[in-house]
Amino acid sequence: MSGDGHDEDLEAVQARYDQERERRLVPGRSDIVDVHHDDRFTRYLADPFIPMVEREPVEDDPDVVIAGGGIAGVVAAARLREVGVERIRILDQAGGVGGTWYWNRYPGIMCDVESYIYLPMLEELGYVPRDRYASGGEIRSHLEAIAEKYDLTREALFHTGVETATWDEDDGRWVVETDRGDVLRSRYYVLATGILNLLKLPVIEGMDTFAGRSFHAARWDYGYTAGGPDEPMTELHDKTVAVIGTGATGVQCVPPLGRDAETVYVFQRTPSAVGVRGNRPTDPRFADDLQPGWQEARWDNFQAVVLGQPVEEDLVDDGWTHDYAAVFNARSRGADVDFQVMEAHRHRVEEIVEDPATAEALKPWYRYACRRPCFHDEYLASFNRPNVHHIACPTGIDRISERGPVVDGVEYPVDCIVYATGFEPELTPLPRRVGHEVIGRGGITLAEKWADGANGIFGMLTRGFPNLFIMPAPGQQAVVTVNYTQLACLGAELVAGAVDVLRRRGVAVFDVEAEAEKAWGDHVLATHIDATSFLATCTPSRLNNEGHPELMNPRNTNYGYGFGDWFAYRELVRNWIAAGDLEWLEVDGGEQTP
Ligand code: NAP
Repeated sequence: MSGDGHDEDLEAVQARYDQERERRLVPGRSDIVDVHHDDRFTRYLADPFIPMVEREPVEDDPDVVIAGGGIAGVVAAARLREVGVERIRILDQAGGVGGTWYWNRYPGIMCDVESYIYLPMLEELGYVPRDRYASGGEIRSHLEAIAEKYDLTREALFHTGVETATWDEDDGRWVVETDRGDVLRSRYYVLATGILNLLKLPVIEGMDTFAGRSFHAARWDYGYTAGGPDEPMTELHDKTVAVIGTGATGVQCVPPLGRDAETVYVFQRTPSAVGVRGNRPTDPRFADDLQPGWQEARWDNFQAVVLGQPVEEDLVDDGWTHDYAAVFNARSRGADVDFQVMEAHRHRVEEIVEDPATAEALKPWYRYACRRPCFHDEYLASFNRPNVHHIACPTGIDRISERGPVVDGVEYPVDCIVYATGFEPELTPLPRRVGHEVIGRGGITLAEKWADGANGIFGMLTRGFPNLFIMPAPGQQAVVTVNYTQLACLGAELVAGAVDVLRRRGVAVFDVEAEAEKAWGDHVLATHIDATSFLATCTPSRLNNEGHPELMNPRNTNYGYGFGDWFAYRELVRNWIAAGDLEWLEVDGGEQTP
């Protein structure tokens, strides 16, 4: 390529990337409010959707307690039902099932992973999603439908947070105590607490002095705005709204706010790369030729394309399978392909956004692989509305006064601030995300056991914590999938498969063999791909530990290379279940070999 000026172009662009990264590497950029303990902010956690109802504490001995009623918890419970487990109690701080789709009801909410692969158990439910990309409401309803079909809500305890889960050695049970005074003694305990469960509020000077209304996008205050996720927010017609944050959430909620509010200020620290979404109603003939097993075949097709494996046809055929797959599989031509993809995104901004200065500020200057991409067809055009104003603040917001955000000394008076500032996902260690002490054998807590990083076979079973299942997640010695549902469903298979074998063989208590756990961890470390040097060139984000990838722990990674070797991991899980010999486990109260 040298000689045609291309290398010089790449160098110039990388210099721009470096410059943009440096601008954002300011002290305190990732400081967050302790929203659970700081009294000034705990109100941001309250449930605006379903009122809490007083109830008596429950004392019970169920077979299984599942902490978390999102996709992972619901699917695990459904699969447990299928193998005949009767007493299952799902616990959740939310007022119903749905997890992230319970809490996130912001206007315009959609999932940008294709609906036919994102909604779990479509075949079991006989359901065909309405559109290529589902709305948050449709996903929540679908999870409710699964819960109803498998009778999961009757014994669920909602608006209930686990305070401690303690292994009782004498009884061979988990004792789960909650903030509603419940005491549940269960044979098995499943942690399905998710990765987007801890909402994040940045520390911004003066934010607690703001006199108007403010809320996090994951607790949308329709009592204030009126309307709903798909309905006009009529109370905003004379209001000025600030949106802080332009990740996947900000990108989705700005268009409806632009439509409904009198004035919108969008405060952008880092622009997202916003690709084409191309939503459309499901073809009425979509279901005509579907064969049993079609959803898994579609999952596999998507996963194969993302992993750069040959397929006859790209069934999903969208931004993930084009841009994302191209960049992640470009190998030696990585910078080249990445450059082309990002140039296309920058051109898209120019084509859509009329004001040149605004367009310039919306252009993403970093490599595509540095941040989670976004997909939307109305976001960029929103900035052509006279009432939507783009405020670039690469170093963050200076402060928030009683009247509104202040950037570069300019105060923007607003009626309402929406914090679209995200969550603590992958890089927050599991014990923190779990949000309660899990106390295993000898009083050792999960936080102590995992103090030096994730540690457990399949990324799901960890020694010293008998009869505990941890649903798989990124950075936890399992694997990563763009489509989280596929991983959650495999985790559910393992939970139900293991419980089925344990019950059939009369095993009361299992633990993980020390050697097996060590071998798993050693394999994870041996196959770990150190991406520190690439990540160090990236704009700060949660993917590179806010600009400090050197502090990332290689133990908090995946099974197999890079994102993890999905197909090998799944084969291992399925072979392990099918063998039924409980290899790698120590068992009490039953036979280990058939
Ligand atoms: P996010 O991607 O973490 O974005 C948070 C935004 O807040 C960023 O733009 C960030 O700026 C900004 N921000 C943080 N602190 C700030 C400060 N002090 N001043 C100004 N801006 C600040 O959060 P999200 O958009 O809620 O998305 C979180 C995750 O949810 C996504 O990565 C995705 O996994 C998931 N999600 C998925 C979908 C879907 O369709 N599947 C939809 C929504 C969300 P910087 O970029 O500079 O850090």
